[in-house]
Amino acid sequence: MLDSPPHRLHFEIILGLLVVFTIFAIAGEEQILEKRLVIDNTSNMPLHVYDDRGNGGKSSIHLEDEKNMRWHCILRDGYEFPLCGFEILFDKERTHGIDLRHYNKIRLWLDYNGPGQTVRISLRNFDPLYSKKEILHSTKYNQIEFNIGLLNGVAEFSLKDFFVANWWVLENKIPPQLSHPQFDNVTIFEVQTGSGRPLGKHQFHLHKVEFIGQALSTADWYLAIMMCWLVIILSFLAYRIVKLKDEVVIQRKRESELLEINQLLDTRGKALERKAKTDPLTGAFNRLGLEEAISLGLQEWRKYQKPLSLVMIDIDHFKQVNDRHGHDIGDLVLSHLSNIVQQHTRAQDLFARWGGEEFVLVCRDTDIDSACAIAEKLRELINNQILHNDITITASFGVATLKAHENLEQLFKAADIALYEAKAAGRNRVVTAA
Ligand code: GH3
Ligand code: MG
Ligand code: MG
Repeated sequence: MLDSPPHRLHFEIILGLLVVFTIFAIAGEEQILEKRLVIDNTSNMPLHVYDDRGNGGKSSIHLEDEKNMRWHCILRDGYEFPLCGFEILFDKERTHGIDLRHYNKIRLWLDYNGPGQTVRISLRNFDPLYSKKEILHSTKYNQIEFNIGLLNGVAEFSLKDFFVANWWVLENKIPPQLSHPQFDNVTIFEVQTGSGRPLGKHQFHLHKVEFIGQALSTADWYLAIMMCWLVIILSFLAYRIVKLKDEVVIQRKRESELLEINQLLDTRGKALERKAKTDPLTGAFNRLGLEEAISLGLQEWRKYQKPLSLVMIDIDHFKQVNDRHGHDIGDLVLSHLSNIVQQHTRAQDLFARWGGEEFVLVCRDTDIDSACAIAEKLRELINNQILHNDITITASFGVATLKAHENLEQLFKAADIALYEAKAAGRNRVVTAA
């Protein structure tokens, strides 16, 4: 069975929406999958500052406003590489940092004022392969150094551009396979004064650091979209199967209902057909029923040379019955006679009311002698029967059989003549046509 139109429309709307969603998912991949890690004055992460006095230098750093991450540094001659550093610690213990592998960009909102030309940013990675908790400089220095001109407003860098500081590789004797940038366990974000010995006062104000990444790789994203489609298609198929099963059940029920209705109509039709061919008073066939029986008998006679005989029956002096007992009793007598004949005829014989108190018995596959015997038996039965209110009747019989080259009219005429002869000969007898 087909879906009804509103059903189909729903399906098409859903399909259209899914296609639109898919287009959005593909076109807006970057926006949808973007994830951000923000560090600002609300993050309350532990901070740490240092200068080169530990290395024998004379520079000094001063954290002006810890909450708003503002500090200044005065670089002085003393150490070979005068420097100051400001650190945000992702872990107080400096061992369990954050995994930045799924981030690809870093954005900085950093104000700088001072004699320096460059600023250094480091993402320090802790890995037991080369790091020791008690040695501060053993975390890997993934860093970039850039011109302060880039700090106008917001500066954005790709994590791909970070490199590992050469001095760190040399100082820690790092083998080449461990000397590439690494971000799986970043414990410290660091801002340092740049290289080139820029002596003087350097002022920093770090507003915000933002890491930008993608929650899923592009391949995983497409795989997820594909899986969604698969799930939707499978669910739809399952839904259709369940629905079809229901429809089959409904269809079967309808079919069996139709079958029942048809059977009912069939039996009613047959009953009506039978009624149309039956005489209402006597229950015998009427002329229409008689026509059918005769044409069947005629066919058998023509095709298979089966004999076809006719017995005409007329009640004797029936007018007197009516006159003596009334028309209603006359009707009862007709009905009684009909019952007697129908009870004593064979299945192949057809009994019909020819009109008034005259009846015809069509005997298929019956020769003249057998038809005569049947007529004689019926005559005797009627003669010996006491009908309603001690009424007795007799009947006369004319028997004929269809001969070669004869037609039906001639057969009826022959039977009629025989009946007339029976009447003339004194009634209550059987006469066979010559
Ligand atoms: P015969 O022996 O010569 O046949 O005499 P009959 O009186 O039987 O013959 P007739 O043809 O003169 O009369 C037939 C009567 O049958 C006349 C009519 O009133 C009666 N008759 C015909 N049809 C019906 C019927 O349906 N009901 C009743 N009660 N009488 C009927
Ligand atoms: Mg008559
Ligand atoms: Mg009569």
